[in-house]
Amino acid sequence: MKELPVLYKRKEECCGCTACYSICPKAAISMVEDGEGFEYPQIDESKCICCYQCLKVCPFKIEKEA
Ligand code: SF4
Ligand code: SF4
Repeated sequence: MKELPVLYKRKEECCGCTACYSICPKAAISMVEDGEGFEYPQIDESKCICCYQCLKVCPFKIEKEA
């Protein structure tokens, strides 16, 4: 079994751009509002097929690899 992708560990690592949400072919990601009104992606384990497209499209991960 592949591991579920980790989109962010700390909120600073996510700007809520929704790119991951948009690209997910299984609609496994939903944007969930935190107490301060910012939206963060949440992965539904039962839908995720671990294709990691969400990680590939995330501007924060791209920055780190460059
Ligand atoms: S790994 Fe693939 S299926 Fe899972 S949340 Fe990311 S884009 Fe969606
Ligand atoms: S693509 Fe990255 S920065 Fe954008 S909402 Fe998803 S995890 Fe956050």
